[in-house]
Amino acid sequence: MRSTRPRKQFAQHWLKSEKALDRIVKAADLSGDRVLEIGPGTGILTRRLLAAAESVVAVEIDRDLCVQLAKQLGKKDNFLLLQGDILEMDLDAQLTAFERFLNPNKVVANIPYNITGPIVQKLLGTISVPAAKPFDSIVLLVQKEVADRLYAKPGSRAFGALSVRVQYLAECELICDVQAKDFYPPPKVDSAVVRLRPRLIETPAVNPKHLENLVKLGFGSKRKMLRNNLKGIVDVDTLVQVLEKLDVNPQSRAEDLSAAQWVNLSNNLLQMTDGRSIGS
Ligand code: SAH
Repeated sequence: MRSTRPRKQFAQHWLKSEKALDRIVKAADLSGDRVLEIGPGTGILTRRLLAAAESVVAVEIDRDLCVQLAKQLGKKDNFLLLQGDILEMDLDAQLTAFERFLNPNKVVANIPYNITGPIVQKLLGTISVPAAKPFDSIVLLVQKEVADRLYAKPGSRAFGALSVRVQYLAECELICDVQAKDFYPPPKVDSAVVRLRPRLIETPAVNPKHLENLVKLGFGSKRKMLRNNLKGIVDVDTLVQVLEKLDVNPQSRAEDLSAAQWVNLSNNLLQMTDGRSIGS
């Protein structure tokens, strides 16, 4: 079976830890769910998902693996395999003909690490364009360093623009760590399972595009105080006034503000500047 030899080109690392597989499936809490899996590989996770969910649609880029998977799992009527690049695929269009797989409500996947950012964006959307039909939950095996940023608390070293963008759209939690030796071949980095739960935004941004730009500029130069990074778009006095109103120390750096504080900052700046601030 040559085609199960992992290919570097597609960031293939087969998970072999039973314990990690169990934790992933448990975190997804499956019963009557329709699951989307990205990168089924040899199908080790897929088999477990098929046993626990109502249906599983899996998207795999590697044609040889697809042939193997179709041979092994093709007869299961709650399984649909789509060959292609998840980032290019219009999933809704692909699924129109397959009633049982339409509108998957959960994602469970051991994803290719080289495209983690774009995958998370595809699944959650962005601050200005959140996913039209948010998933109930998204359980992903990702590189540890990225996981740390996803669930980081404000003020911690790992908290950055990615943390704000993702935490604006979803609750993020760590499920468990997974070691490099739990894969074949072992990746160069450690890994972790995270669960993202898209949620209704309590205080939405009045102008999401403004918030998006503000976060980008605010984190522009990580070591600088926020008021210096934002100098070009809002005068220091106005910014300090807004920060004080929000009970945020005017000396703060970008990484000190939670996602909710960023939203308040954006909304208040827009109010103070009559909507003339950046990107509005
Ligand atoms: N889930 C398997 C394999 C994980 S490795 C396991 O746990 O063992 C990542 C998988 O994603 C590989 O099968 C790889 O071929 C696939 N992949 C890589 N890039 C992809 C893309 N753009 N779209 C869909 N699948 C992709």
